Amino acid sequence: MTTLVHGCALLTGDVEDPQILAGGALVGDDGAIVAVGEADALRREHAPAAELGGDDVVVMPGLVNAHVHGFATPALQLGLPDGPYDEWMMGLMGVSGADHELELEALTGLLIASGVTTTIWSHFPAGGDLVEEAQPMIDAFARAGIRLGCALGYVDRNFFTWGDDARFLASLPADLRAFAEGMAPPQGELDVETFIAACQAIEPSDLLAVHYGPVAPRLVSPAAMEKIAAAASADERRGVHMHLLDYAEERTLLEGELGRSLVPWLDEIGLLGPRSAVTHVIHATTDDMDLLAERETTVIANTSANLRLGAGITKVGEMRRRGVPVAIGTDDMTLGLDTDLLSELRLATTLARLEDRWTSPAETIALGTAAGARAAGFGDRVGTLAAGKRADIVLLDYERISSPGAAVGVTPLDLVAAKATAADVRTVLVDGRVLYRDGRHETVDPAPAIERMRGEIAAVTASSEAADYFAQARRVGRAAADFIAAA
Ligand SMILES: [Zn+2]
Repeated sequence: MTTLVHGCALLTGDVEDPQILAGGALVGDDGAIVAVGEADALRREHAPAAELGGDDVVVMPGLVNAHVHGFATPALQLGLPDGPYDEWMMGLMGVSGADHELELEALTGLLIASGVTTTIWSHFPAGGDLVEEAQPMIDAFARAGIRLGCALGYVDRNFFTWGDDARFLASLPADLRAFAEGMAPPQGELDVETFIAACQAIEPSDLLAVHYGPVAPRLVSPAAMEKIAAAASADERRGVHMHLLDYAEERTLLEGELGRSLVPWLDEIGLLGPRSAVTHVIHATTDDMDLLAERETTVIANTSANLRLGAGITKVGEMRRRGVPVAIGTDDMTLGLDTDLLSELRLATTLARLEDRWTSPAETIALGTAAGARAAGFGDRVGTLAAGKRADIVLLDYERISSPGAAVGVTPLDLVAAKATAADVRTVLVDGRVLYRDGRHETVDPAPAIERMRGEIAAVTASSEAADYFAQARRVGRAAADFIAAA
């Protein structure tokens, strides 16, 4: 069935050539966009069977949240306050909240309602069968009807200190050592061949892309990283998604070990390329940036999360100036703990002004659409509204965004970049299918899930057990940071 989707404006084109079509529309058929143009002309030419939109909405490509770990409930609400990365990370290992299925129902609902049509999930191995660990996430996204870039995770070392865990454990006071040993690093069980086979066992499909996800260079032995790089570069149907330089000491550790510079080494073993994305990259040098730009490797900034943990700022301005593709993720931790990608785009690009890079409104939006789609493994299919692309579309409430008025020359694109938030999302389509309209979900039902989560979370947070655990875990984290600093 042909459908005309139209608004007071339609945002299309790419970063270099943004286009705002006043009165713009597109015709979708069988989930694909067949034409983009002026609404009346498209009506005459295609005689669409149905129409969606109106003069009070802006039509834009679906948003891409390029880095999440898969939790709907912020760790802070489960008793883990923000804190320095080492301490916080150790605490995170012990966070328990509501049932996983409920979390996923809430998460997919939250993403859809904020205009997100594609998400990259960065998995952290929990010690079990990797495909089984990924399956609930894959199933939840399939049920919700949104696209998933599934980055299966691998770690094989450096749970505590990124150097010498045995010596670190031995250095702890007896009570803390017993606790730390009980934190049971799961990665000892995993071998790299099993990991590679698991990645290859998950078949990409229309709504599912697969990525090799070595969690970070400091957490993967160089020999295993080389094997992963070889498998990934030979596999054109899958990408790479990896944390990189989110911690300054990662460079020191790896360069001491490799006797050479980290990012050029990743390049040499074949891990960088247009199908690869690296996330955070706070501590990149300008040489690193130039190499990432040359290899067309996407950097995913998670600005809020890094700010919340005082970890640093991904230099989006300098990276964009040097031609690095940049996408944006929320890392389960935005400034307002609301998973609002539109606000996150604004934060990342506004901070770039401190680097004297004033991104245009079109560029700002492209980081959360076209660039994200590419990083997620769907760049050929979504990210812009153009004939031949799949119909992943968001309609934003222009009445709200433009209230109480906008001067001549202030475009809908200017206003979307400057002030739109998740609250302005009216309608969301993936593959031409309406998933959300005027506050109502069509595929997921997050409200009852959230209601049940309330009860479960109340139960796990009622006792002081969780707080005691976090306090102990943070002591371990602090000791690990001291150990690393003294090494
Ligand atoms: Zn992350």
